[in-house]
Amino acid sequence: MTRPIPKPGVLDAPLYVPGEHKLDGIAEPAILSANENPLGPSEQAVAAYREAAGHLHRYPDGGSNALRRAIADTHGLEPERLICGAGSDELITFLIRAYAGAGDEVVYSKHGFAMYRISAIAAGATPVAVPESDLRTDVDAILETVSPQTKLVFIANPNNPTGSYISEADVAKLVEGLPPHVVVVLDSAYAEYVSRNDYTDGASLAARYENVVMLRTFSKIHGLAAVRLGWAYAQQHIIDTLNRLRGPFNVTAAAQAAGVAAMRDERHVARSRDHNDQWLAWFAEALKELGLTVEPSVGNFVIVKFADAETAKRANGFLERNGVIARDVSGYHLPEYLRFTIGLESECRKAVDAVRRFLESEKR
Ligand SMILES: *Cc1c(COP(=O)(O)O)cnc(C)c1O
Repeated sequence: MTRPIPKPGVLDAPLYVPGEHKLDGIAEPAILSANENPLGPSEQAVAAYREAAGHLHRYPDGGSNALRRAIADTHGLEPERLICGAGSDELITFLIRAYAGAGDEVVYSKHGFAMYRISAIAAGATPVAVPESDLRTDVDAILETVSPQTKLVFIANPNNPTGSYISEADVAKLVEGLPPHVVVVLDSAYAEYVSRNDYTDGASLAARYENVVMLRTFSKIHGLAAVRLGWAYAQQHIIDTLNRLRGPFNVTAAAQAAGVAAMRDERHVARSRDHNDQWLAWFAEALKELGLTVEPSVGNFVIVKFADAETAKRANGFLERNGVIARDVSGYHLPEYLRFTIGLESECRKAVDAVRRFLESEKR
């Protein structure tokens, strides 16, 4: 060896490809590529973030105590059973590093969120993708796949990019069907958008079972993707474990301040949910009227099916030239689809108009 070589897995990990935010030569594109809140964050969160600028020479509170209290108050949870991270991505990494290494398996569903696979590979573990049925997490298939090597199972519910969800009964069936030493991570990044009475964000299961973790984020409905803030709720032994992997000051002071204000601003959350309810329904209907298949979604985004992978790619290029940034989901084994985040009214209209013109151009 003539130079340092990283541990097994590190160089095998694919790089996460984020949604685009810029288009050459287009001043204000409709950014519908990253499931961000088009309304932005709570004004109070922005004010708290600005206020934090007056104390930049001080280290943050390493335990994110005020933030954990605010989360606990709003969600009716115990602050000792919470941990905050620099995005839920960081907590996904901690979970995998804590519970899986070489020879261990990390199970997730085939069209599931990309970070589970990436983090598993980087930790030297083996990622195992389980087929879905009808673009939905298949609990029976997961239970059949789990082996003695399985250490963690990740479920995004609702899932990104499909927008589908599984019921509380299915989540409970999964938890009850797994051996108690397998960590079940219920990633509820879009929970606030869901208004189905058979849905659970997983908090009650994380309270009851020793092997269940609920993950949440401030990047989606709270509109704070830039500050990098997420949290996990689990029983004490898991939180204690993750705290040992956490850097002493993993969440910035400004992020904590913004997070406290965002968590307390329930009106902003309600407004954001109402906006999504209205425009998700409108957007899906408008694209269906153009003859496209729009998969049902309970999140703040939808996947839309084109005739084939080539057509989806051409559509994406056409949309970009017309100032609309959708998300290529070919990396999720969905090459004939594009994912659209529900934007502002003007952005939804602009996207539908561009899709209409694309389909017309295809007929010629
Ligand atoms: C967006 C998203 C996250 C959030 O990631 P952050 O690191 O908190 O920004 C987590 N899980 C899923 C499924 C997501 O779509």
